[in-house]
Amino acid sequence: MAMATPLDDRAVDELAEQFRGTVLRPTDAGYDEARTVWNAMIDRRPAVIAQCAGAADVISAVTFAREHDLVLAVKAGGHNAAGNAVCDDGLVIDLSPMKSVQVDPDAMTVRVGPGVTLGEMDHETQAFGLAAPGGIVSTTGVAGLTLGGGWGYLSRKYGLAIDNLRSVDIVTADGELRHASETENEDLFWAVRGGGGNFGVVTSFEFDCHEVGPEVVWGLLLYPYENAADLLRFHREFTADAPDELCCYAAIMTAPPEEFVPEAYHGETVVGFIVNYAGDLDEGLEAVQPLREAGEPITDLVDVYPFTVVQSMFDTEFGPGARNYWKTQFVGPLSDEAIDVAIEHAANRPSPETQVVIEHLGGQISRTAPDATAYRHRDASFSFNIFPRWDDPAEDDRHIEWAQSLFDAMAPYTMDGVYVNMLSQEGAERVRTAYGDNYDRLAELKAKYDPENLFRVNQNIEPAA
Ligand SMILES: Cc1cc2nc3c(=O)[nH]c(=O)nc-3n(C[C@H](O)[C@H](O)[C@H](O)COP(=O)(O)OP(=O)(O)OC[C@H]3O[C@@H](n4cnc5c(N)ncnc54)[C@H](O)[C@@H]3O)c2cc1C
Repeated sequence: MAMATPLDDRAVDELAEQFRGTVLRPTDAGYDEARTVWNAMIDRRPAVIAQCAGAADVISAVTFAREHDLVLAVKAGGHNAAGNAVCDDGLVIDLSPMKSVQVDPDAMTVRVGPGVTLGEMDHETQAFGLAAPGGIVSTTGVAGLTLGGGWGYLSRKYGLAIDNLRSVDIVTADGELRHASETENEDLFWAVRGGGGNFGVVTSFEFDCHEVGPEVVWGLLLYPYENAADLLRFHREFTADAPDELCCYAAIMTAPPEEFVPEAYHGETVVGFIVNYAGDLDEGLEAVQPLREAGEPITDLVDVYPFTVVQSMFDTEFGPGARNYWKTQFVGPLSDEAIDVAIEHAANRPSPETQVVIEHLGGQISRTAPDATAYRHRDASFSFNIFPRWDDPAEDDRHIEWAQSLFDAMAPYTMDGVYVNMLSQEGAERVRTAYGDNYDRLAELKAKYDPENLFRVNQNIEPAA
């Protein structure tokens, strides 16, 4: 291995001279904003933030980090709950300026830069009545979401974000820009479809799109918590037979003090169903009807909405700036006993912002073989998500302990698998759990493309020996 050259001001000046984008140091205006990520628990101070304008800047920054033996983090949307977009002392490659979105309406494809958010991509594709499957909060980065798999309301119908990925351009640890697709650098393409940021910095994503909207059936239904056991059993049965177009999340949450909630329920724990139908509007209204009749809803917002509005319904509720510690695990249909355990624990949530969300998967996601891409756990019906959220740093332990205790109580009922994009900082064993039987192949490919583990500030796959 070549000797690293030390990082001094002159070296940073040289990097800045090569750059079309902006190179920030701790004393520069914009530095604090650039090092801030969605999860307020993460407060890291990189030595340098390289805000890239294009692939050439990414090549310079990767080469710079390698030559100076710097800790390297890569930031796109900055949403990752584990905070892997930033590091202390080293170099952050900030991709947020790389915002190009090019739709080809005839080919029904979209090519996006790595700084694009889901809302920005939807904005452009919806102008042509198209969408590529992504997540459900518009400020999430397309890049990080896709590299871990990427699911949302459209995934039961059209698959994960990676199932619609046609190709990527990626700068690997050696500073080379490679194109990866089903026919070029196929092994690398396999790895980036779920392997996160382990294999290089993706500078461009090309997706297949589908005809979606511009309006879809969507709804939030809230029900009193006293009926939670019946409602979650209903959700289990209803989702088992649901068409692919229908995606329904169940949540244990606090009724917000909004006018669409009766005042008596403001601040009370409730069961929520969040439903979306990606298809014909009349069929959708009919398909979601049983959910509206699962009991006496206190809130029923089922209606026809623009898809772009649906995609930003939870932007405020899951906005940046709060402290978060996620514990999640894949599950099959929950047994009655599992539902009872969840209900009992979730009633004691340590903050009103804290939610337990059962995200609905299956459908097209599970029709791709588990070894066809790095994303492994395609057989999961749901992801059981514990999302504590609070503001006061002095309360960190209380919220984290509560999440862990619910997670432990649910352990007998969950699968041996977790979504890599929802891991907190939980250690190497949990990363193995995320990849299951795909881990060893990923480690071999890591040894091929990043033998020195330059890209390690992530849910890290260690290069095979
Ligand atoms: C409010 C909220 C809602 C969410 N909803 C969903 C959802 O509906 N569906 C879903 O699947 N997930 C969802 N997620 C999880 C989300 O997929 C992950 O947090 C994802 O990592 C976010 O990507 P990002 O680009 O915003 O994050 P970042 O923190 O910028 O990046 C995440 C990771 O990816 C790496 N990375 C980012 N860009 C690149 C790149 N171009 N090349 C190489 N590595 C890169 C980073 O180094 C980091 O390790 C949600 C997260 C939040 C906070």
